[in-house]
Amino acid sequence: MSLLQKLKNRVRSKSIHVCFVDVGSCNGCDIEVLACLAPRYDIEQYGIYVHNNPREADILLVMGAVTPQWVDKLVAIWEKIPEPKAAIAIGNCPISGCVYNRRDSYIDPPAAKHIPIAAQVPGCPPRPTEILAAILSLAPTIFENYEEKKR
Ligand code: SF4
Repeated sequence: MSLLQKLKNRVRSKSIHVCFVDVGSCNGCDIEVLACLAPRYDIEQYGIYVHNNPREADILLVMGAVTPQWVDKLVAIWEKIPEPKAAIAIGNCPISGCVYNRRDSYIDPPAAKHIPIAAQVPGCPPRPTEILAAILSLAPTIFENYEEKKR
């Protein structure tokens, strides 16, 4: 790997763009993700930018129990994210379906069945500090050994 590529990878791992999608939740986890943006946790001080544009994202946060209406959309959003990329399941819903996973429910968890999930943050909901720690620990691994394809 060239020195320039190594340098680019290092710089990009310090400037992480995060996109989030709710695929059928109670919004409890969404609120915890949004709390990360507030002054108390101030996610931007770590070089993490949260927005809703998959084309600029490095990490996708997935919340919710994966309703059938969301399956295709989740896959489409994942495919729009350029390489290198990773997804994190936030809360128990995308991991197991949580309280929605009953015999008569129509949800389709886990999210890992539909897209590759690199990390999980369990909890109902998880704390902002746990979400932050997951993003910070995953970020350097995404760009490790990444080589851009020559055009
Ligand atoms: S894990 Fe709990 S708080 Fe999060 S979306 Fe599911 S039910 Fe709501």
